[in-house]
Parts: sequence; C-alpha cells; structure tokens
Amino acid sequence: MQSDIEIARVARKKPILEVGAVLAIPPEELAPYGHDKAKVGAGFIRSLGERPDGSLILVTAINPTPAGEGKTTTTVGLVDGLNRIGRRAVVCIREPSLGPSFGMKGGAAGGGHAQVIPMEEINLHFTGDFHAITSAHNLLAAMIDNHVYWGNALDIDVRRITWRRAMDMNDRSLRQMVGALGGVANGFPRECGFDITVASEVMAILCLAEDFADLERRLGSIIVAYRRDKTPVFARDLKADGAMAVLLKDAMQPNLVQTLENNPAFVHGGPFANIAHGCNSVIATKTALKLADYVVTEAGFGADLGAEKFFDIKCRKAGLTPSAAVIVATVRALKMNGGVKKEDLGSEDVAALTRGCANLGRHIANVRRFGVPVVVAINHFTSDTEAEIAAVKDYASRHGVDAILCRHWAEGGEGIEELAQRVAEMADGGQADFRPLYPDDMPLMEKIETVASKIYHAGEVTADKGVRDQLKAWEEQGYGGLPVCMAKTQYSFSTDPNLRGAPEGHVVHVREVRLAAGAGFVVAITGEIMTMPGLPSSPSAERIFLNQEGHIEGLF
Ligand code: ADP
Ligand code: MG
Repeated sequence: MQSDIEIARVARKKPILEVGAVLAIPPEELAPYGHDKAKVGAGFIRSLGERPDGSLILVTAINPTPAGEGKTTTTVGLVDGLNRIGRRAVVCIREPSLGPSFGMKGGAAGGGHAQVIPMEEINLHFTGDFHAITSAHNLLAAMIDNHVYWGNALDIDVRRITWRRAMDMNDRSLRQMVGALGGVANGFPRECGFDITVASEVMAILCLAEDFADLERRLGSIIVAYRRDKTPVFARDLKADGAMAVLLKDAMQPNLVQTLENNPAFVHGGPFANIAHGCNSVIATKTALKLADYVVTEAGFGADLGAEKFFDIKCRKAGLTPSAAVIVATVRALKMNGGVKKEDLGSEDVAALTRGCANLGRHIANVRRFGVPVVVAINHFTSDTEAEIAAVKDYASRHGVDAILCRHWAEGGEGIEELAQRVAEMADGGQADFRPLYPDDMPLMEKIETVASKIYHAGEVTADKGVRDQLKAWEEQGYGGLPVCMAKTQYSFSTDPNLRGAPEGHVVHVREVRLAAGAGFVVAITGEIMTMPGLPSSPSAERIFLNQEGHIEGLF
C-alpha cells in the first residue's frame, strides 16, 4: 500500500497560477512561492467587496479516538467530489504545526487519495507564516523585558507578566524556566517559559482579524502583564503593535495550493483547538466564499469543541452563516466509543458499535441546535464490515439524518460523490437557520454553563471564588460581551478523557480562566491543558530523512 507521501509525490500538479485562474484570480494578484504555492494579494481581496458569498460547509466529527476519524481527509475529498459533480468548491483548512509533524505520526494535509499538495512543504516551512507569527510573538516578549530593563516606566509587575515566548516545536524543557540570569547587564531575572506557536494569541488574532487595521488593533489589545494594582498593561502601551503587524504583513495573506485532483485549497492559519478556537483564518474563509460556490472547512477535534467554537467564536464574530455540516464518523472510532480496545478493532462487533453510536447521536443533536442541517460521513476503512456500516446507517436514519459511506481515502473524489450530492442539495436547499448557542450579553459564567449543559450534558459547573471573581472583574472592565473558548479534553463530552460514548450529569470544573483580549475570547480551562507539548519516547523525527534523490522520506 502506498503511503501518503508516495501518493503525493507522483501527483500531477498544475502550476499555481493555473489553479488561481480556476478561481479567476488574475496572475498579478498571486504572489507565487515556488511553482505550487501562492499568496493571494491584499488588494485583490479588498476588490472582492460586495460579491455574493458561496455556501459555507463545516466538516466536524465525533469525539476523536486513537483510531482516527479523518476530518481533513474528508474535507479535501468532499471538495474533489463536489468538483467532480460539477460544483465549484474550494477547501479551507489550517496550516500544520511542526510540533506534531516531528512528534507523533500525523501530518495535517489529509491522507490517502484525498490530500492537499505539496504535502511535504505544507507540513514543514510552507510559506513561512508560522515563523512570522513566532517572530511577532517574540518581538513583543523582547520589548516587555527591554521596557523593564530601561526603567519600567509603565510600572509592570515582573511577577505578573503573562506574555510568554513562543516556538513551533514540541519541547517540554522550555515550559517553565528562569530568564535574564547572568547579572545586571542581562536584565531582571524572572520566571518565564515557552508555548508552541499554535498556542500564541498572535496566531488566534491572525485567524480572526478581518484586515490589516483590525489586525493591528487586536495586537494592541493583547494584555501582556499587570501592574501591582492589577491594572492591565497592553501591547499598545509598549508601542509594539505596529512592528508586530509589519512582521505579519505577508502571513496575513491566504495561501493557495491544490488538492491531488487539482482543485483549489486555501491553507491558512492554525490556532490550537483547546486554548484557542481551532479554525483556519477568517480572511481565507471570506476570500474563498467570494470565489467559489461551496467552501468546505474543518474545525479541530470533535464537534463538542470544534464545531461549537467554529459557530460561537468564528461565525459569530466574523458574521459567517454556515449552510450545512458534515459529521465524520468511522466504524473503528464508534467501536472504541462503545468500549472496544484499540488492539481489538480488527474484528466485527456490531453491539459495541451500536453502543458507541450514542456519541454520534449526541453530536448530531448538538449541531442541529445551531440551526445547521447535518449529514454523517462514514469514512471507510478497509477493516469495516457490511453489517457494521449498515448499523451506522440505521442508527443515523433513526435520528433523522443520512449516513453516507465515503471512500475518498482509497478512491479520491470519485469515492465521495454521493456525499457531495447530498451536501450540495442541503446547501442549495437553504434549510439552515444559523444561530449561536448563547447571546453576546449573557454573563461569562452563564456562557460557560450553557456550553457545559447544552453541549456536554454536564450536570453542574464548579469554579472557585477566584475564577468567578475574575470573570466578574472582566465584565466590569468591558469584556463581558466576549464569547467563551472552552479548553477541555477532546476525547470525551466530559472532562475525563476515558469517559467515552455520551456521558450525562458529570461535573465540569473550571480550574482557570484567561483573557485573550486581542483575539477576543475568554478561555475557560477544565483540567490539564498543555500549551507546550512534549515529544513521545520515539518521535517521528527519528524516521524522517532525505533519500538519495533528495526527496523527503518518512513524513507519513
Ligand atoms: P483529522 O483531521 O480528523 O485529525 P486526518 O484527516 O488528518 O484526521 O486523518 C488522520 C490520519 O488518518 C491520516 O494519517 C490519514 O491518512 C488517516 N486516514 C484518514 N482516513 C482514512 C481511511 N479511510 N483509511 C485509512 N486511513 C485513513
Ligand atoms: Mg485535521
């Protein structure tokens, strides 16, 4: 069987200017990076102004398991399927981080015969966006310590500096450290540490900013530290916002690439899906909507986190109105949700599968709550049996939705035409009546409780007085209208990663809250959330190398 990289390497790529021509982007408005990647010019994006929008389609999933679901693979395959049935569709997905590429096996460019290419470059340095984001983040960090060094006119309490440093690598040894050691010339020693670039607020800001002015305004609104009297110090107080925006000038422009079947794909931005909202950039999504009839996009993790944040943060804030949602499920993952161990997934088990379908059922009901019509994509694995597939279809139909078997991983767009047809009908039918889960003016704690009760089916939300007081203080400071960004395990509706299926009545404990004033959300942290991952005992990096011809091997 061919690996993802082997399939990608023999793909017949079109020159990127031809891919742009499919979307009627004039060649002078594309800035090519080599022959197969390009950035779309800001002037061209502004000129799209009042054109009508195409339909926005979300690809989300059941709760992930180590068995794999294939959201990106299905997003890419669906676009190839839509184009095969004569619809003009484009992909909008996130850019991968180097951390997972070299850590646990797993790129983020899709898989099998449903990939975006050039997959090696997309998974590695790509067009340099993450490096630019890292630089902008660290410029701000450097300016904070420099400000303190030169007299600290802003009266920053060095014990209350909240802005850390960033790097796009999994490196646990950088999580907590002491900086500025070595004497007077090196500044004031203080505790500090690194987060991975995808966890940077700069990443979330880039992905939510509408244009350059909005970008600079949001960068200026980042809270970097507090004074002794607990008043915030903003990036704009340090006059860092202008230079940060300059570093992000090119990174703000959407990246155009193509699928294995030469259909256009925007791969832009990549915020974490736990402490951030986990969606590709607003600017790429809005550009794509002006250029195509159907835009298929993915949100990170399962629908309890990914779809909820896509709807309540990205769509609410950017004024987007999704037309349909696809929930990706696999027989393997449903069996795991029904209690089967990973090593036993090879054998048929309709009873466990049917138990696991409770997880799917909950996600179907949840997504419908947002007024968006749903279809289930069964991402076919070779080990699936007829009886198992029939059981998923049967379960879905009892919940009033279609579950359609998709073979895009093995067959490309041809294997997913039935889903494409259904999605196009749903989008064209105009059945969607999108509404976020809660209103802007609901108190912050109530927003958290609403997500926990309506989406997670929790019985109770607990939080210490400190957390509650902090939320109230932010409301008094004018941040009460922000949406909440839940940081919860992706493996369960509850905060216990081992509780699969559709648990009810559990307790959600909010351990900590953080204000991302520039990005524009309040993060509610439930349980352990890692903003700087570590590498596993045998990282993928050990198996990645250049072969005799200088081709990359081992990148999945
Ligand atoms: P997600 O976006 O949900 O994290 P991906 O689409 O990135 O998932 O897929 C995760 C991994 O699973 C990839 O390596 C991909 O090649 C693999 N995969 C996806 N679908 C299938 C399938 N139908 N059969 C076998 N492997 C698959
Ligand atoms: Mg993905």
